[in-house]
Amino acid sequence: MQALKWLLFCLLCAHAADLHAGDAADAAREWRIRHEQQIIDGFVELLAIPNVASDTLNIRRNAEHIVGLLAQRGFAARLLETEGSPPAVFAERKAAGADRTLLVYVHYDGQPASPEGWASDPWTPVLRNRPVEQGGEVIPLQAPFDPESRIFARSASDDKAPIAALLAAIDALDAAGIPPTVNLKLFFEGEEEAGSPNLAAMLAKHRDLLGADLWLFCDGPLHQSRRPLLSYGVRGSYGFGLTVYGPNRPLHSGHYGNWAPNPIMLLLELLQSMRDPEGNILVAGYGDEIIAPSISELEAISQAPDIGPGLAAELGFGQPETNQRLELALLRPALNVRGIHSGDVGAAARNAIQTSATASIDLRLVPAQTPDHLRAAIEQHIRAQNYHIVHSAPTADERAAHDRIARLDWDAAGYPAYRAPMDSPIAREVAAIVEAWSDDALIRLPSMGGSLPLYIIDREIGAPILTLPIANHDNNQHGNDENIRLQNLWDAIEIYAEVITGL
Ligand SMILES: [Zn+2]
Repeated sequence: MQALKWLLFCLLCAHAADLHAGDAADAAREWRIRHEQQIIDGFVELLAIPNVASDTLNIRRNAEHIVGLLAQRGFAARLLETEGSPPAVFAERKAAGADRTLLVYVHYDGQPASPEGWASDPWTPVLRNRPVEQGGEVIPLQAPFDPESRIFARSASDDKAPIAALLAAIDALDAAGIPPTVNLKLFFEGEEEAGSPNLAAMLAKHRDLLGADLWLFCDGPLHQSRRPLLSYGVRGSYGFGLTVYGPNRPLHSGHYGNWAPNPIMLLLELLQSMRDPEGNILVAGYGDEIIAPSISELEAISQAPDIGPGLAAELGFGQPETNQRLELALLRPALNVRGIHSGDVGAAARNAIQTSATASIDLRLVPAQTPDHLRAAIEQHIRAQNYHIVHSAPTADERAAHDRIARLDWDAAGYPAYRAPMDSPIAREVAAIVEAWSDDALIRLPSMGGSLPLYIIDREIGAPILTLPIANHDNNQHGNDENIRLQNLWDAIEIYAEVITGL
């Protein structure tokens, strides 16, 4: 009996030692091929629960549903609460002999969606043979599935696909008897698309639970080339409204043009003084805090395929603003005019000089820019253009007393960028695992162009953060007809299986 036990033990050891790169992915693929209907059915059930963070009843239904799914898989799963916030889902499963912990971050809430703009209801998932823009038709949600077909629903890609893929990866590994090599923690946020207003409080309150050797962010789209992508950071975000003033009532443009100040022209001149045609920001002191990209960050970008030329054509414009490739342009801080309003156009246009003109501007921050410094620099720049600055509607007296007035309405808060070092041991490990899985070379981007409040996690938890996206780049994230391509879902199952057994 003792001998038999020993033999079994040795067989188990041999099995564990024999595991090498690809075994987990192979097991995941074999299991997936046999269980596609089950995976899709579970995914569709999750997608059918409306998930806008402000919809308190439904957002909680999502969280409770996910807790149930994790509990079925042997996770200690529960809701984390903090006042005024949707619950976060927290789950933990220890691996025998593991001395490191991987925390997987996903957000289960989605952007609001208005059904009128969608080809089908956002929370009634459907399968289409092609993207809607290419005339995709609804086909049965039944195996066998074409890997090019796509599921359409809010959060199909952003960000419920990683939940479905992770659950399938765990099922596949459990079925194959391949144990994870790391302790797993899961933290699924319920208000990311609402701007994570309570994330800092949530993390501070539950800090003891959330420590890990790595936070793996499973969110966002893959590179446009469809090659696997690992991203090490995000830009920060801030914004403001800018209003300048003309006469105190609209004036006849024939009687007063060339004499009364035109606020639309003043606004355009002011905006052009802040940003050159290539997007470089001309505000004095704006770049004081910037840490230049490292050699290894620039090298990583030079190794990624340059998809710019084809992408410009796909997006319907000839020439980008800059000769820099897209990924390098995204390492710069950005000042984007997201809207301008004054007067009317078309049939509503009148021959008048307007009383004011307003622009709305969003800023993207790079390391180590801070919102406070940028706000001060921009206000100083506007002052230097001979404007008197106010932060609410100017009074009649103020308007009479100053030649030029600019009203600035800053966002309640902005936040800085986050960048993890590319050459830390754990970052290299993850990169090697994903690269070994793929037939294509891994794309490593020092930063995504978009923003996530990763700095909060860095500040509250202190673990390194890497972002491993899985969604197709053309997933209509945040827009109408959001979708996930099934091959992306299938790939994600294999990648997750490799990561949690390869670390
Ligand atoms: Zn997302």
